[in-house]
Amino acid sequence: MVAQDAHSRRQVLKAAIGGAAGILLGAPVRSLAGAAAQAVSDRVGLVPLSADLFIVTIPGQANVIAQTGADGVLLVDGGSAGAAEALMKAVASLPGGGPVHTIFNTHWHPEQTGLNEPLGKAGTTIIAHENTRLWLATDVTWSWSGQRFKRLPKVAQPNKTFYTTGELPSGIRYGYIPDAAHTDGDMYVHFATQNVLAVGDAVSGQGWPVVDWATGGWIGGIVGGLQRLQSLANEETRIVPARGPVLGLADLKAQSEMYSTIYDRLTQLLNKGRGPSEAVDARPTKEFDAQMGNPDEFVRRSFESLWAYLSPDA
Ligand SMILES: [Zn+2]
Repeated sequence: MVAQDAHSRRQVLKAAIGGAAGILLGAPVRSLAGAAAQAVSDRVGLVPLSADLFIVTIPGQANVIAQTGADGVLLVDGGSAGAAEALMKAVASLPGGGPVHTIFNTHWHPEQTGLNEPLGKAGTTIIAHENTRLWLATDVTWSWSGQRFKRLPKVAQPNKTFYTTGELPSGIRYGYIPDAAHTDGDMYVHFATQNVLAVGDAVSGQGWPVVDWATGGWIGGIVGGLQRLQSLANEETRIVPARGPVLGLADLKAQSEMYSTIYDRLTQLLNKGRGPSEAVDARPTKEFDAQMGNPDEFVRRSFESLWAYLSPDA
């Protein structure tokens, strides 16, 4: 029932923002050269959260949050490098838009840090947790897929890092999510005036999450992060994940119960000496699969993530 409740809630929210998502940016975006860029820019969408706060959506890209102000634009995440041009055009054409003075990296993944290099070169303040800076300053390999990620040049690395919490003069508060839901550098950004909470990939708004245990993420951290973030939200808070539609507090509660159930099942399998393939075969997510999709990759990564945190010889 939990999953169904979460699903219907999400559908309602999706419907609520559906009309707003239909707003397309105008002429400045369409002046982009190149057919590919044109194709992307035509589908750039805006979801207004308040008069000065927007989600910029590009198909296939993670959500980007933009706040406009007298001194320019603040971003939470920056899409991937391939979409940088389209995104910058979209940001420049926002109502009240201007140059980007600050960007947050909610974690180190390329889907969030694609604007770091051009913005870093322009002198933009790039804020991230110190662990995110460390991952961006080193090469990372995902052993399960062989995928390799090259370190970013110095100019593209976060130039303002923190360990626990921080606050900007404008009143925006941000903080570490130390549970390691997705990576060990996850952070949130809280726009208190607009009652909007940006949570990056610490919460998945669309399908099973990626459990990046190579850089510290784990299934126990998903549960812990969901519980922690609930304490920052109320019934009216719009919670913006990196993927999927805007969520509400009820979604976090429902997800928290679902992942707790899965976490318990996986730890029981671990304690019985089972391995990742046996965990997949045990179908620990079975009542959620109809809603969430094929769980095999998620279950395998989640189980492997337990080794790092719970195995006595880890
Ligand atoms: Zn990610």
